[in-house]
Amino acid sequence: MHLTFNAEERAFEKEVRDFIAANLTPEMKRATALTPSVFSDPDIGMAWQRALHRKGWGAPGWPVEYGGPPWTPAQRWIFESESARAGVPNVNVMGVKMVGPVIIGFGTLEQKNYYLPRIIAGKDYWCQGYSEPGSGSDLASLKTRAVRDGDHYVINGTKIWTTHAHHANMMFALVRTNETERQQDGISFILIDMKSAGITTRPILTIGGDHEVNQVFFDDVRVPVTNRVGEEGKGWTYGKYLLEFERGAGIASAKLRDALKTIRDLAASEATGRAIDDPDIAMRMSEIEVDIDTLEMTELRVLSALQTGQNPGAVSSILKLRNSEIRQAVTRLGVDVIGHDGLYVEPMRPLYRLNGAPGIPEEMLPVVPEYLNGRAYTIFGGSSEIQRDIVAKMVLGL
Ligand SMILES: Cc1cc2nc3c(=O)[nH]c(=O)nc-3n(C[C@H](O)[C@H](O)[C@H](O)COP(=O)(O)OP(=O)(O)OC[C@H]3O[C@@H](n4cnc5c(N)ncnc54)[C@H](O)[C@@H]3O)c2cc1C
Repeated sequence: MHLTFNAEERAFEKEVRDFIAANLTPEMKRATALTPSVFSDPDIGMAWQRALHRKGWGAPGWPVEYGGPPWTPAQRWIFESESARAGVPNVNVMGVKMVGPVIIGFGTLEQKNYYLPRIIAGKDYWCQGYSEPGSGSDLASLKTRAVRDGDHYVINGTKIWTTHAHHANMMFALVRTNETERQQDGISFILIDMKSAGITTRPILTIGGDHEVNQVFFDDVRVPVTNRVGEEGKGWTYGKYLLEFERGAGIASAKLRDALKTIRDLAASEATGRAIDDPDIAMRMSEIEVDIDTLEMTELRVLSALQTGQNPGAVSSILKLRNSEIRQAVTRLGVDVIGHDGLYVEPMRPLYRLNGAPGIPEEMLPVVPEYLNGRAYTIFGGSSEIQRDIVAKMVLGL
């Protein structure tokens, strides 16, 4: 593996830096720094998506014929690293990184022509309708039913923990179209317009006081059959394919490095009484840094495979596992670094709309909310126990 960049790659690095400097407004940067979640609010995230689209960079990782940039793995890595370093907002990952690859892989020509340009241009905002009460890890037991009625499916049931359903105009969902002996066989993958009659969205507040997730109810919701992706009853295959992208198609190490740098800067500041001089804090910081280096190497190997047209495969479970655990270690360290200042928890959301003096320095404001919000990293996208199970079976062959 060559870890030094050639002249062309250096030039690309400068192009990315120049683009970010010209397009990332101070308001966007501040809003991102004060967002405790991995998800940016749509007004921030979609503004960034549109800026990327204008540059032709709206869908890193997609094949060129569908609008992806013609990057080498090294360029993709440079782009992600520079973006993380600069603190850019997160775009609608449910669109670009999740449903986009499924539509590319299994959608009809009409679906590709309609949805893909809208995802890249930041016109549609997607949410993911997989989990149900009682069907999370055991997703194949899902009960939301879609019954055929002419050219439509009529959907009844409920989805839960649906991130940003209250912002989304589109949902991709797994629904049961047939009762079959093997639960996985009767599931279909369907695209639902969130403005359809019969959909109700109920907010759920999480431990940090954030409204990100929801329960969504479907009462006789009519969805055209043409909104089904792929074959009826084969949705489990597409749904799992999507999960591999959800878990392993990003470069998390760059973001982790940036998050750790934020905590290191806090620890080196007088505001924390130079917490970095505490040997325990310094040692934990070094350990996390080594963990990030190791994750980065694995991500680079996966990235090379993705650029040659392969999907991430089961190794995505290793990436998801390590990313979420390292991320939690960073947020835990953050709380210890700010010490008793962590007792002040600002209740207002979003934090970036806060005007006037909060009870602690602004750079400390997101530390405890990030810690609390981050409890979910090892749950969403499949819990750590489930990832370990997949690694044992699919990677280690146990
Ligand atoms: C903040 C947040 C956002 C989310 N966003 C979305 C979203 O946008 N869309 C969506 O569809 N879902 C979303 N989810 C749901 C998420 O995917 C599920 O919470 C997750 O899959 C776990 O399912 P569960 O909550 O039903 O827990 P359960 O499956 O009931 O698991 C409970 C515990 O048992 C353990 N466990 C379960 N089965 C096994 C097993 N076979 N072996 C070992 N241990 C096991 C689990 O690891 C866990 O610790 C989100 C969840 C959270 C917390």
